[in-house]
Amino acid sequence: MKVFINAGHDRKYDSGAVNPDTGLREADVAANVAELVKGYLEAAGCECQSMQSDNLAPTGVGRSDHADRQGLTVTETANAWGADVFVSIHCNAFNESAHGTEVECYGGGAGAKLAQCIQDQIVDSLGTLDRGVREMPQLLVLKYTDMTAVLVEMAFIDNAADAELLANKQDEFARAIARGVTDYECSL
Ligand SMILES: [Zn+2]
Repeated sequence: MKVFINAGHDRKYDSGAVNPDTGLREADVAANVAELVKGYLEAAGCECQSMQSDNLAPTGVGRSDHADRQGLTVTETANAWGADVFVSIHCNAFNESAHGTEVECYGGGAGAKLAQCIQDQIVDSLGTLDRGVREMPQLLVLKYTDMTAVLVEMAFIDNAADAELLANKQDEFARAIARGVTDYECSL
């Protein structure tokens, strides 16, 4: 199975959400976890490609204003590569008290199934609040990808307890995400 891993945001141009007390940045957590996920999935026999960029939508659509930064967009790259599965890795943020894990998918079907596999693995191994699988067809990486795609909101980076997990349990998040992908593959 070919798995495209997209670490959310961009270490240089777009930090994503930032913890107000510790300065922990979503782009850094996502990059670290994505690299670990890639290693675990390759060890499990998957072919992987990873890309971190906030240049998401196809050229000429949506946020194409970023196209001059890195040329290729995340969704076009995944589509051109012919990925079977697309996993975008993010941290959530809201009001410092909201916490927990949720995984977004485009609609029902395979995307919802993959999302549930990853959701279950993270909640089981990290003990985060189960906020469930959500359909968010407006998300660019779900809207413009041709393959089964999910966006993982591992935990809330602006919540103190969740942020501690995101800072110190990156390997556990990565193992859980990789297991979710292989659970999905086994269910096919
Ligand atoms: Zn994000």
